[in-house]
Amino acid sequence: MQYDFLVVGAGLSGTAAACELASHGSVLLVEAEASPGYHATGRSAALFTPHQGTLLVQAINRASAAFFAKPPVGFTDHPLLALRGGLTIAEPGQEHLLQDLLALSAPGRDVHPIDGETALKLAPILRAERIGAAVHEPGVADIDVAALHQGYLRELKRRGGKLICGQRISALDHQGGLWTARVPDALFQARVIVNAAGAWADHVAALAGVRPIGLVPKRRTAIIVDGLSGVDTRSMPTVDFTATDAYFKPDGDRIMASLGDQDPVEAQDIQPDEWEIAVLADWLQRETLLSVKRIGHSWAGLRTFVSDDSPVVGFDDAVPDFFWLAAQGGYGIMMAPALGRAAAALARHHDLTVELTTQGIDAADLCRSRQMPPPRG
Ligand SMILES: Cc1cc2nc3c(=O)[nH]c(=O)nc-3n(C[C@H](O)[C@H](O)[C@H](O)COP(=O)(O)OP(=O)(O)OC[C@H]3O[C@@H](n4cnc5c(N)ncnc54)[C@H](O)[C@@H]3O)c2cc1C
Repeated sequence: MQYDFLVVGAGLSGTAAACELASHGSVLLVEAEASPGYHATGRSAALFTPHQGTLLVQAINRASAAFFAKPPVGFTDHPLLALRGGLTIAEPGQEHLLQDLLALSAPGRDVHPIDGETALKLAPILRAERIGAAVHEPGVADIDVAALHQGYLRELKRRGGKLICGQRISALDHQGGLWTARVPDALFQARVIVNAAGAWADHVAALAGVRPIGLVPKRRTAIIVDGLSGVDTRSMPTVDFTATDAYFKPDGDRIMASLGDQDPVEAQDIQPDEWEIAVLADWLQRETLLSVKRIGHSWAGLRTFVSDDSPVVGFDDAVPDFFWLAAQGGYGIMMAPALGRAAAALARHHDLTVELTTQGIDAADLCRSRQMPPPRG
């Protein structure tokens, strides 16, 4: 079976790109796991935080915003975003750490300093004595990740694209302008390989004889615990702690929390670490009025970065017809609409999409050969 594009990995990145490509050619989306979204995509905090990440990531987030606000007709029956707002807290003595965030304040970018009393009204489970200064971002929102992913999968099918699951690509061979991909049950041929394999993208590159881009998967652990009896926390903002990257947010009437850990690990079906969970529960009790009696749910996921913490999107510079869509780090859900469209344009040798160029982004900013510092030790 021969296709124009074979996309490796049915996380959100690969699915969005496959869907966008399916308007322009035949597409096969291949997923190693039994269902799409099993790895990073299914384990995120589901937040649209437009001011997080590198300046490039923030610009891509802004480019994605229009899609989230107004998805194409028929894409989904559910709103993709629900405004929640975000609060960033600095402990007493660490107020200066909020300066970088406050510097982003500009027309169209809602970032406001607020006093401790207002912060407590917004997030009544905080401890007053732990608040030195606070910043409010009304534009932070919850993303309906399942609706977004299902929308792309449905649209992919409607456009004639094909998804196969439970088939890990184990060999890639390029001859006569065609790639041949081996999976346990078949061989597929395609003109272009789109490598959206998340934490495994350097492994997939190795199968094709392509030099790695230095991806480092980093584990992040999260828990869900009961809320505070008698306090309605459902409409609370998400709360970040600027000194540590730790955060919590409501999950229905319970609370999801993470220390913002980022331990480098090998690509794998990552599981939460018991020690990390204990430290996280202890932190939550120190920073809030919550008393953690039991952990309702815990999980870990991989956020995968290159050394400059920005995504890599574009053809490889040495091996023809091998396209990278990788290194989405901790922002791959919110960047997916803009990067899916960008990948579909660049993988067809078209110019970068207007939504990204109007944010000041050039295709060279996204490619693997941009200047990147060596990986941090
Ligand atoms: C705890 C946590 C919180 C996060 N919070 C947010 C957030 O609030 N907002 C946000 O925007 N982002 C967030 N992220 C980041 C986001 O989840 C990721 O950036 C995004 O999901 C990456 O999607 P992906 O499709 O690139 O990777 P993945 O979802 O990992 O998909 C890659 C797929 O490739 C498949 N694959 C690998 N090798 C092969 C092969 N050889 N053959 C076939 N298939 C293969 C894998 O099975 C996998 O399904 C968070 C991540 C974590 C872990």
